[in-house]
Amino acid sequence: MDNTIRLQYLEAMGIDVWVPKTSPPSHKNQLVEAVVDDTELETKDSVINNWNNLKIEVANCTKCALHTTASKTVFGSGDNKAEWMLVGEAQGQQEDKQGLSFVSNVGALLTEMLRAIDLTSKDVFITNITKCTPPNNRLPDVNEIDSCNNYLHRQQQLIKPKIIVALGLFAAQSLLKTNKPLDSLRGKVHSFNDTPVIVIYDPAYLLRFPFKKQEVWLNLMHAIQIVKNNKG
Ligand code: SF4
Repeated sequence: MDNTIRLQYLEAMGIDVWVPKTSPPSHKNQLVEAVVDDTELETKDSVINNWNNLKIEVANCTKCALHTTASKTVFGSGDNKAEWMLVGEAQGQQEDKQGLSFVSNVGALLTEMLRAIDLTSKDVFITNITKCTPPNNRLPDVNEIDSCNNYLHRQQQLIKPKIIVALGLFAAQSLLKTNKPLDSLRGKVHSFNDTPVIVIYDPAYLLRFPFKKQEVWLNLMHAIQIVKNNKG
C-alpha cells in the first residue's frame, strides 16, 4: 500500500505517525508498521468503499415510487462502526427536507434517551425502514419496504452492530417480518441477520405518552446488558 495512504489510515486510527524529516524512521514507527499489516488496512479500505458505494446507490435509487415524491434520500446518521443500530419506521417531512434522520423534536427526545444511557450520536447509527419519505406522512407500503429492504441488510452487514433497537411497532414488524403486536415484541430478544434486536416504543409515541419512558428505560437497560454480553 502507498505510504501516504498508510499514514492517513494510522492518523485516522489515532496512532502517532510523527516521522522525522532528516533521520531514519524511529523504532516506534517500525513497531507500528509491524502491528498494522496491509491485509487489515485493505479490509478497512474495502469496507469504507462498500459503505460509500452503498450511499451512492441509495442516493440514485429508483426501485420504488417513493423516489418520485421524496425530496432526497435519508441514508441514516451516525457512525458506520457503531455497536448500536437504531431503526425507525420512516422519516418525517423535516428529515425529508434535510436528508438526515431524526432531526425534529422526536430526534431531540431520542438524543435525550441515548444520553441517559451514556451514548451519543457517535455511538449509534440511526436509519429507517425506507430511505425515502412517503408523501403526506403515510407509512411505507409492503412493496416499498421490500424494495428498500436490501439497503437495510447491507447497512447491518457493513456496520456489524452488537445490537439493533427497533423504534416502535411499524419498524419492529417490518424488520422482523411479523404481524405480532408491540406488547408481545417488547421485552424479548429477536434476531436480524444474527444480530440481537430489541423493540422499544417509538420516540414519537413517547412525546404523546411520556409516562411510558420508564418502560423504555428498562428495555434499554436490557439492551446494554446484551451489548456487554456480546463483547464477551
Ligand atoms: S424507498 Fe428505498 S427502494 Fe424506494 S426509491 Fe427510496 S431508496 Fe429506493
